[in-house]
Amino acid sequence: MKTINNTDLSIKDVGKEVTLFGWVQKKRDLGGLTFIDLRDRSGIIQLVLKEGNEVASSLKTEAVIKAVGKVSERESKNTKIKTGDIEVIVSDLELINNSIDIPFEINGDTTALEDTRLKYRYLDIRRENIKNNLILRNKVTLIVRNYLNSLGFVEVETPILCKSTPEGARDYLVPSRVFNGKFYALPQSPQIYKQLLMIGGMEKYFQIARCFRDEDLRADRQPEFTQIDIEMSFVEEEDIWEVVEGTMKAIFKDIKGIDLPKFERLKYVDCINRFGSDKPDTRFEMELQDITDIFKNTTFEIFKGILEEKGIINCLVVKDAADKYSRKEIDKLQEFVKTYKANVLSYLKLTDGELSGSIAKVMSDEEKNGLISKFNLENNDLVLVLAGKEKIVKTALGALRVKLGHDLDLIDHSKYNFLWVTEFPMYEWSEEEQRFEAAHHPFTSPRREDIDKLLTDKENCYSRAYDLVLNGYELLSGSIRIHDSETQRKVFEAIGLTEEQAKAKFGFFIDAFKYGAPPHGGVGIGLERLIMILCDTDNIKDVVAFPKTASAYCLMSDAPNVVDEKQLKELGIGLRD
Ligand code: ASP
Repeated sequence: MKTINNTDLSIKDVGKEVTLFGWVQKKRDLGGLTFIDLRDRSGIIQLVLKEGNEVASSLKTEAVIKAVGKVSERESKNTKIKTGDIEVIVSDLELINNSIDIPFEINGDTTALEDTRLKYRYLDIRRENIKNNLILRNKVTLIVRNYLNSLGFVEVETPILCKSTPEGARDYLVPSRVFNGKFYALPQSPQIYKQLLMIGGMEKYFQIARCFRDEDLRADRQPEFTQIDIEMSFVEEEDIWEVVEGTMKAIFKDIKGIDLPKFERLKYVDCINRFGSDKPDTRFEMELQDITDIFKNTTFEIFKGILEEKGIINCLVVKDAADKYSRKEIDKLQEFVKTYKANVLSYLKLTDGELSGSIAKVMSDEEKNGLISKFNLENNDLVLVLAGKEKIVKTALGALRVKLGHDLDLIDHSKYNFLWVTEFPMYEWSEEEQRFEAAHHPFTSPRREDIDKLLTDKENCYSRAYDLVLNGYELLSGSIRIHDSETQRKVFEAIGLTEEQAKAKFGFFIDAFKYGAPPHGGVGIGLERLIMILCDTDNIKDVVAFPKTASAYCLMSDAPNVVDEKQLKELGIGLRD
């Protein structure tokens, strides 16, 4: 077995005879003298062959070798690598396995196309950053396991072949050979099982769980991903948040050496009002400002019409930025808000104490002064104004806030801002389905004070669901669950599930609640997102060993792919033309 890692060796080992194994990262042939950068998982060490050597001359980049030799102090030191003080003078070199020409360089930040890297992922994993990300991922899951175990949590594995779970995405289906025409679904999360574990009396469960969702993919999504899944019995929100905060604190202390402060909290409604998003980036301020009141007597027809239809007027005050936004630049912002269905983006600039800009002419002196004094506007401040339906104004301005945060470099990238967003709406209107759907999942408990609204006032019914947001990313979702059959029945009814449909989908689950279900709640933490933030990447593929493309395709193995006719036959499947 290999017993020495390259970077175990240091100046202290000079004179020692060592046997090293690894890959040839680089070879320099200087006539009689050959230098090899030998790479193993730990890092690089320089090998030196002082005489012409047949094996050495046959080596290609990425060949696997065994080298026996003596550790020696280097004449010219290399401060860039950990073993830069030393080299190994090789007495015996063995070629274990040569390599053919490699499709891209293994060192540093490669410029290879992502598709090439995915096709040869095993080579990509040899690169420093992917390797380090995977090692960090292992470290994080180990911290999680240790921390949760210390609190009395038990890790339980739940099925991968199961009945559809209701997380709102499309299922991946697996046809059954034994029951032709029937399908398993891969779990979108272990939601149902973890609740059944609570009914099973486990009290504190966790799992580093694989989840599968057949959704359109984005930069931070993969069709299969991992959740740190947690469920607890006899708890309120506070208890769950404490466990999650403790877990995050343990991770950030160990990985980043940071003592995280207590996490901030904000109700969903306030969050939307202030940031126009349920996952706000709170590393910078520039909150949305409601200026509806300032325009309550407006004579400007467009604003007047909007206010008559119960619309709102909000703005962003962009400090000291008026000179950065010419008409052309403002037009670009206009195009941007249009993608969020917003209409005209108005603007105002304060120059020499005077407001100018697209709506300056239609504003009264009172309105102008009201605006200047409300925000203590100073010269060169820019005010971006949107008027319209509440939801559109909030969403568009919220997105514009984030864009400007990036464009104007307002974000402090050294910060890790955790925020609990609480009391989400119970339901969400689905335009496609023309009915209300569960905003989280249908097992989420309503707020105690909203129980009566479950069927009668769905718009104003709020839940005990919460998200944890980190730097604008939704890191986890969770909720206190319903644990009595009557409330559960009402929620199914509210989202348009008849008793028969509910029974067919979750009959076994509903039945379980009749045998003494404890109050319970939990969370599912997106592991990849957490690792992405810890690794400072915005590409989920960087933190997954064998990722798929945006079309859920594996370029390395060519999955999905066709299967034998015989396999299809066994499954009772005939393909349509
Ligand atoms: N199953 C939920 C999800 O995947 C998390 C939870 O409610 O615990 O979002």
